[in-house]
Amino acid sequence: MGIIDSYGRNIRYLRVSVTDKCNFRCSYCMPAGNTKWFPEREILSYDELLRMIRIAVKAGITKIRITGGEPLVRKDLIPFIAEIRKIPGIQDLSMTTNGSLLSQYALQLKKAGLDRVNISLDTLREDRFNKITERSMFRQVLMGIKSAEQAGFTPIKLNVVVMNGINTDELIDFARLSFEKSYEIRFIEYMQFNSDSRNLLVPTKQIKATLNQAGWGTLVEQPGSDGPATVFRFPGSQGSIGFISATTEHFCNQCNRIRLTADGRLKPCLLSNFEIDIKRKMRAGATDFDIENRLRLCIWQKSAQHGLDGKEVFQRGMFQTGG
Ligand code: SAM
Ligand code: SF4
Repeated sequence: MGIIDSYGRNIRYLRVSVTDKCNFRCSYCMPAGNTKWFPEREILSYDELLRMIRIAVKAGITKIRITGGEPLVRKDLIPFIAEIRKIPGIQDLSMTTNGSLLSQYALQLKKAGLDRVNISLDTLREDRFNKITERSMFRQVLMGIKSAEQAGFTPIKLNVVVMNGINTDELIDFARLSFEKSYEIRFIEYMQFNSDSRNLLVPTKQIKATLNQAGWGTLVEQPGSDGPATVFRFPGSQGSIGFISATTEHFCNQCNRIRLTADGRLKPCLLSNFEIDIKRKMRAGATDFDIENRLRLCIWQKSAQHGLDGKEVFQRGMFQTGG
């Protein structure tokens, strides 16, 4: 299944942002002073989201990821997940979360049919965590990770955005976790959305070199990674190490995804300003056929490569698109 785009890529993956709201304030995602939330009426209702997901799955999408903002701050998310699970044809249903509310919801999410969770954690030090997120919820996140494990989510992926001079001294501490746990530790290259902000990019090459000098041997690439991460393992480790190199080694030629924003726009790429307003269409009485055509148009508009080259000015922060 899947839907072929104009470059022959097979698009099978829809990332659905259910809210722009978040209980954290990570500055790389939500620039200071830019936390004006979408008005409530502009957010797609669960019925509208489900309609779009059903149409997309019927057209060939097989993977759904729920994201935000912080998805778990939206009320009544569990019944929504259970409804998605009932849609025939979805092979993989996952969520990206900051983990702060997972200890409350992990078991319910598992029971509702969520397959996997990715949890974001950029530091293992509480004081640093408080600075990065501007919130004091480090312990809640650690409890959330534990709850996800206990609920049976596997594999647990930890997303670590590597930021020069901010958490670069913790690369080895994070990698050590792959010996202690069966987690996939995913080092994500910082993406600079706003040219005014300091560029905190640390290239994957440099991260790998640091890890390879840690005394655990050389990272061995694992076959069959399906997604943006290239996955490696240290000999003898339980878990693995992933690298997401959107900035220096973009993976656009293998891209299989499109996005739906919480305010009802289909986007062919995270790093493009092109979007199609399906909320307006739906609310004006469009048929499923019309909506499916919009989805196909969005996929057809996927460009060969993203615009993270410093020339494009992005209209949305990450929290407004869904990472
Ligand atoms: N709130 C959830 C969370 O933090 O996991 C889900 C939404 S968040 C926008 C999704 C992912 O985007 C997180 O892993 C976050 O670290 C990543 N992200 C946000 N801004 C980024 C940036 N400028 N560069 C790289 N990754 C970024
Ligand atoms: Fe919130 Fe996630 Fe963005 Fe941090 S990265 S501000 S947790 S949406």
